[in-house]
Amino acid sequence: MFVDGCFWHYCDEHAHLPKANAALWREKLLANRRRDAANTAVLQSEGWRVVRVWEHDDVREAADSIELELARWTSIVGR
Ligand SMILES: [Zn+2]
Repeated sequence: MFVDGCFWHYCDEHAHLPKANAALWREKLLANRRRDAANTAVLQSEGWRVVRVWEHDDVREAADSIELELARWTSIVGR
């Protein structure tokens, strides 16, 4: 489970670039997003179940999505 911060993970809703060196920041933050996607893909290819929520997500909805994923997993492994 990952909780992605809106700034460092360049959230579409709250992304804002510092005024100084905006182009460099944009490239850095986009690279962070690409790395997030690559890390998710690697983990999933290794059989991990990945849940990503945003810092801005409603806490209850985030907890519900995690609980749902755990319930799915539990039904798969037969506990
Ligand atoms: Zn956000």
